[in-house]
Amino acid sequence: MQWDPLSAFIRVHLRLANLGTVVTTNPTPRSRLPEWLRIRLPVTDTFFETRSLLADLKLHTVCESAKCPNHWECWGRGTATFMIAGDRCTRACGFCAVTTGKPLPLERDEPARVAEAARRMRLKHVVITAVARDDLPDGGAEHFRLTIEAVRAASPGIITEVLVPDFLDCDSSMETVLSAHPDIFNHNLETVRRLTSKVRFRATYDRSLRVLRKVKMWRGNAIYTKSGLMLGLGETEEELLTALGDLRRAGCDLLTLGQYLRPTLRHLPVVEFIPPSRFDEYRRIAERMGFSHVASGPMVRSSYHADEVHEPGARG
Ligand code: SF4
Repeated sequence: MQWDPLSAFIRVHLRLANLGTVVTTNPTPRSRLPEWLRIRLPVTDTFFETRSLLADLKLHTVCESAKCPNHWECWGRGTATFMIAGDRCTRACGFCAVTTGKPLPLERDEPARVAEAARRMRLKHVVITAVARDDLPDGGAEHFRLTIEAVRAASPGIITEVLVPDFLDCDSSMETVLSAHPDIFNHNLETVRRLTSKVRFRATYDRSLRVLRKVKMWRGNAIYTKSGLMLGLGETEEELLTALGDLRRAGCDLLTLGQYLRPTLRHLPVVEFIPPSRFDEYRRIAERMGFSHVASGPMVRSSYHADEVHEPGARG
């Protein structure tokens, strides 16, 4: 059997730290959130300006649709994550609050409206995501391409990050998105292998790794690949470190780790609230594994402070 330095690293870490078990901290659905998960409410007018601009341009955001707990903070900083291709998803993941339903036809002027929003918000880094559109032959890839191009035309020099579904591992869809030259290609693994079928709908752990691996293989250092996991769904530390090793083997550059929070009582319960000190430890481990930037903390989400990835030494 070939020696794999990442596996060896994980084994040594687990032995030293005596890790590998789940510690459950009274995770009843209505239990009070720990102190470190308190949501900060807006203190400036920027939140309301962001809200009214997005409403004027009739845009969807994952901030609202997914009931992101950072919605107040991010909009208060004048940032948001645009969600294109409608607000109805063809999948029904156990963690996600985005509405599942029969999607509406794509809106041809949506790329221009996203571009206009990014321009008016003076964004230097835009994050564009979409609902999964398994009903479309290309999964919505062409719509991503048009949106990236429109944003770049309206805001030259802007950094473009896409957070994409798995496109059912369709090479031509991935190539379509890549043809617009996004700076960062983000696709979330979301959880460890054992929990994937319970947490995600129609997605598979290996398919997500394949998507990331292919993009890195095709574009190399011309693009950053990024992925993220939610913690507190019942994963063990050993399973988590194995997933991080799998991501590194797929060439993933950037990583986000955050606490899963149940958006409604219809969604999967939280199994564990991970304290900030453990998120710090995971960040240090992930950095030693070779990720070039790691954002790890209870409130971290894929797009949380996404613009900080280009600040040397920045931490999420
Ligand atoms: S973390 Fe991302 S999804 Fe959540 S509010 Fe901020 S920009 Fe929106």
